[in-house]
Amino acid sequence: MSGAHPYASIDDAIQVVQNEAKAVPTIGHPMVCPYCFGSKDPTYAQCFGCLQLHKSGVPFGLLKRVVPISMAPDPGTWYGRMQRYKGASPDDMYLLAAALFSAMLAFTKPIEHALGGAIDAMCVTPSTRGILVEDQRLWKSVSLVSSYLPPLKPLLRAVPGQKKSRNAINPSLFASEPLEVEGRRIVLIEDTWVTGSGAMSGAHSLMVGGAAAVLVLPIARRLEVGSIKQFNRQPYLDLVNDGAWQSDRLLWPRPLA
Ligand SMILES: [Zn+2]
Repeated sequence: MSGAHPYASIDDAIQVVQNEAKAVPTIGHPMVCPYCFGSKDPTYAQCFGCLQLHKSGVPFGLLKRVVPISMAPDPGTWYGRMQRYKGASPDDMYLLAAALFSAMLAFTKPIEHALGGAIDAMCVTPSTRGILVEDQRLWKSVSLVSSYLPPLKPLLRAVPGQKKSRNAINPSLFASEPLEVEGRRIVLIEDTWVTGSGAMSGAHSLMVGGAAAVLVLPIARRLEVGSIKQFNRQPYLDLVNDGAWQSDRLLWPRPLA
């Protein structure tokens, strides 16, 4: 990364992420949802949000291809960054880029394994608010490190007039570029996974467009601290708070299927 920004080097930006982000818990803990890594009741197979996504028709194969880079408790500093980088804190784009860069260094091999071969392209979930993909802060954040990554391409466009729903999949939210998508192994980058409906709609659109395989890489998975406490899932919160985010020791949190 270069140019005028508040972080003198990528190491400085990584340091901030390490101080503020939480590590992703490994799947297998009875309180970790095996799809989105959020909290779940130990007696259920998945969290409520993923159950809703499943009901709305996402092929379950796609939900097994979600790997957040970090956890962001809300309220919390890292979650605040993820909220404000689009508006009041554009400099925080460098922090998102640093997190993505670190994760791609650590995760390229398992991602290729999950996709069944080399990554052909990366893209971002488009905004549904009428902003061109290339003008979005997420696109600009990824662009800061894209010269080190597989090609970043505008593979998805928002379809005007479509309504985004909070818990359901709607693949017609987005249209894919058929010539660029067909037969390709694609990494779809999302900034914050809240319910997953936007990213999963995008992944579904890419599959409908003929992609060979899609893996969704949210930079942060939001944790609603209030609702976790409400359901007496403090052990889950402790698990996440105990996990330091270390750029040189990022663990792939999914079993390699
Ligand atoms: Zn879940």
